[in-house]
Amino acid sequence: MLTAHLPSGYCLGKLSRFHGWTFAAAVLGSVLPDADLLFFYFIDQKAIHHHRYWMHIPLFWAVIAGVALSLLWNSRFKQVAIAFFAAIFLHLILDSVGGGIMWLAPFNTELWALVAIPPRYPHWVLSFLLHWTILIEVLIWAWAVYFFLKQRRYCAAR
Ligand SMILES: [Zn+2]
Repeated sequence: MLTAHLPSGYCLGKLSRFHGWTFAAAVLGSVLPDADLLFFYFIDQKAIHHHRYWMHIPLFWAVIAGVALSLLWNSRFKQVAIAFFAAIFLHLILDSVGGGIMWLAPFNTELWALVAIPPRYPHWVLSFLLHWTILIEVLIWAWAVYFFLKQRRYCAAR
């Protein structure tokens, strides 16, 4: 997924009727795994695919979510934590469309993707942009814009 993680978190927040910190947690969780791009570009010099870093490993997030949710279950932060980890896993699912995620790591390090996007063009971004899976991103963006405009109309009518 190239560009639709942020709007996917926005849609998750709107669909779940999250508000305040819970909505913010959904938006943050939808993009947080890609923070490893900083390490990928500036420290690791693009040595390995960033989906192989721990920020993109489902078992890592499952353990963190299990611990956090068990600690926060009876607190007022329960909804915030649920929104955050739901968005994290939404990110991983969306990255599984064409990019690939190591769903079975550390037991199997294969990157699992629903669709193999062949490197038809000189730059990988062009191959992703000109593949039909970009329509999924366009759909997510359209959905987010719909929610945004719907909210603006609602606020303007009040
Ligand atoms: Zn990602």
